[in-house]
Amino acid sequence: MKPAPFAYHAPADTGEAVALLADLGEDAKALAGGQSLVPMLALRLAVFDHLVDLRKLQELRGIERRGESVWIGAGTTQATIQRSDEIRTAVPLLARATPLIGHFQIRSRGTIGGSIAHADAAAEYPAVALTLDAEIEALSPRGRRMIPASRFFTGMWSTELAPDELLTGIVFPVLPGPCGFAVEEFARRSGDFAIAGATVAVGLDADARIDRCGIGLFGLGPTTSRATEVEAALLGTAPTEAVADDIGQSAVSVLESVPSDLHGSAAYRKRVGSAMVARAWRCAVQEAVND
Ligand SMILES: Cc1cc2nc3c(=O)[nH]c(=O)nc-3n(C[C@H](O)[C@H](O)[C@H](O)COP(=O)(O)OP(=O)(O)OC[C@H]3O[C@@H](n4cnc5c(N)ncnc54)[C@H](O)[C@@H]3O)c2cc1C
Repeated sequence: MKPAPFAYHAPADTGEAVALLADLGEDAKALAGGQSLVPMLALRLAVFDHLVDLRKLQELRGIERRGESVWIGAGTTQATIQRSDEIRTAVPLLARATPLIGHFQIRSRGTIGGSIAHADAAAEYPAVALTLDAEIEALSPRGRRMIPASRFFTGMWSTELAPDELLTGIVFPVLPGPCGFAVEEFARRSGDFAIAGATVAVGLDADARIDRCGIGLFGLGPTTSRATEVEAALLGTAPTEAVADDIGQSAVSVLESVPSDLHGSAAYRKRVGSAMVARAWRCAVQEAVND
């Protein structure tokens, strides 16, 4: 199928882009790498009268260390992130999640901003952003604002972004002290979206007790989520006290609205999710203890 007709706009800077999005309202959509939007247009799952292409916006590209955080421009491709030494050392969870996204052709065009704004429940980047307490930078004619990842993902393919807001960057904190990170997912074929996956970030204090814990889940609900009750119970404990399989089971036991489709039933997804959490927990803890 071919997309329905649309008018194409290629603004030269972010000011022009947000003015266009504001003028055109809900009939317009931003276009980044096109790896999610273009298939949806082609299948007519989405129809927009106007596409605002972000490819000329240099301000949306780059990776910058800013004190104890790293800013990544929304238009930075997943392939650039995969190649970045800064990301590998400062935001290892993001670096490890990137090769799991689709295939290299997709990562060459797909952007981090596109993945976060698209907010697919089975995507890796939203789970990484949520697990690391990243902040999403948004620009509109009303100005710039920062949105915590915990408030950003509001449902299936839906976010806190207003129709006239452009996602301009994502800020990831660089965690201090001994810490460990892991992402684990199961997909039937390499490059497919995960049936279920988990991200873990764990930090230890001077007494080697857990003082920071993030457990992200993807493919296990209408949007990415965190196992907040399990995280709270782990804080202050020694990482080796906890049994990884129990953590996995507890993390998925409270989930409601787990999808059931041709890739697997809700019960199967929960079993896979539990195993992914347990695996990621073991890897992250091992890294933190040896850090
Ligand atoms: C075969 C295939 C396999 C894939 N496998 C995976 C996978 O395993 N894991 C995974 O995470 N992804 C996967 N993807 C999706 C891929 O990661 C996309 O690159 C990503 O979801 C969207 O990024 P994009 O830059 O292509 O955005 P686009 O497709 O251009 O846009 C996606 C959405 O985000 C909005 N948007 C984009 N940029 C902005 C911005 N700066 N401000 C506001 N809104 C914006 C658009 O309006 C649109 O609604 C796959 C895609 C394909 C085709």
